[in-house]
Amino acid sequence: MRKLAHLLQTGEVSSTELVRRCLEQIKKTQPVINAFITVDEEGALAQAAQSDARRARGEALSPWDGIPLAIKDNISTQGLRTTCASRFLRNYTPLYDATVVERVKQAGLPILGKTNLDEFAMGSSTEYSSFGVTRNPHDVERVAGGSSGGSAAAVAAEQAPWSLGTDTGGSIRQPASFCGVVGLKPTYGRVSRYGVVALAPSLDQVGPMARTVEGAAVLFSLIAGTDSRDATSTGASPFQVPVWDPKVVQGLRVGVPEEFFSTGLQPEVEAAVRRSLQVLEEQGAVLQPISLATNQYAIDTYLTLVTAEASSCLARFDGVRYGERVAAEDSNTMFAKSRGAGFGPEVKRRIMLGTYVLSASHYEAYYEQAQRVRTLIKQDVARAFEEVDVIITPTTPSTAFRIGEKRSPLEMYLSDLYTATANLSGICALSLPCGYDSRGLPVGLQIMGNHFREELIFQVAHVVEESVERGAQREL
Ligand code: GLN
Repeated sequence: MRKLAHLLQTGEVSSTELVRRCLEQIKKTQPVINAFITVDEEGALAQAAQSDARRARGEALSPWDGIPLAIKDNISTQGLRTTCASRFLRNYTPLYDATVVERVKQAGLPILGKTNLDEFAMGSSTEYSSFGVTRNPHDVERVAGGSSGGSAAAVAAEQAPWSLGTDTGGSIRQPASFCGVVGLKPTYGRVSRYGVVALAPSLDQVGPMARTVEGAAVLFSLIAGTDSRDATSTGASPFQVPVWDPKVVQGLRVGVPEEFFSTGLQPEVEAAVRRSLQVLEEQGAVLQPISLATNQYAIDTYLTLVTAEASSCLARFDGVRYGERVAAEDSNTMFAKSRGAGFGPEVKRRIMLGTYVLSASHYEAYYEQAQRVRTLIKQDVARAFEEVDVIITPTTPSTAFRIGEKRSPLEMYLSDLYTATANLSGICALSLPCGYDSRGLPVGLQIMGNHFREELIFQVAHVVEESVERGAQREL
């Protein structure tokens, strides 16, 4: 990203040229990839022209002024349709910007458009989008992952240099892994959720996606920091892109949890991750086998909490305040008909499950129990970070699966096996590409860091990235 910033600064390239190039690439690849729900050609070009004018006056808003981005379509953009990939909101245009959108605008980033996702961010493949599936740029018969599949595919297909996604149980890291890009789920509370359509407010975080570790770090530096409109972001420190220093890995204690390298893990995924671990060891890191035994409860706990919170958050979509309304003779029928017509099957499934786990007769057995187990998971993770500085695992058990391959919701939920623990415990976690399987599909490596240790995980990721690039060059 520094290269692009330099080209803009010296005038070798203009923001208008960058935006045009992205729009051309979108036109060429969108019919197959379907990464975007809305492309804002006019808006992006207008913002680029303003950026160029600012630069000409020597008034660039930031070094990144003029570098365009794509934004997941569950993040509110003033005057730009925000659908959450739902029929319910297909014509909904927010009256205000989410804080993260305000911040990228303050840095001068033109917005190319809004990217595809599973409806209301519920899913792992964008197959649950009401706007069609997003295809993986590495193999268009396969999914791009989800729920931020559009944001990942747009970056991988060079439709945008970077993008914003959201991550509640893995929705930035899993598609980043499937599409071979870098994605960060920040520490809970480090980025404002104001204006982000909630899936599960106690787990949701917005994060950056980019083709390089540095790109992700720069975009993160633009959105991190406290916001008085989101109480959970109080005390969130801003973030500065670090000076890259490979020496950070010397003596670094890297936890390798055995539970993340067991049954169900594709051997080629394991091999690629282990190769990177070995590189870190060669550079002075100390690999420590650890146990995160509570990970076996992560999916159940996550699903209980996510459905409970979603059923409550989605109550606001009633045909009165937002989105589409189906007219009926009385208001209760109108609510029911609007919700019946507006929501897709996965959303309905989760609302029903969530209502069940919160019901008076089952609350203690499910919701309360899940909260208790969440505490155990947090304690388990905290204990691990007493012994190690970072934890490294595969991001997902497999590389990108085929469109239509996962037939039951349960199979789909298992995609979050390695990612949900970071959301439940609130820590930060990043995925970056660490190699390819024999089909040429990217493999993702996950680096987890304790609360607010984003700088450290970026540093470690940077070392892994360099070694992977060196390795690739050697192969050529
Ligand atoms: N795949 C997870 C789910 O279906 C994650 C969703 C997310 O992180 N938004 O809930």
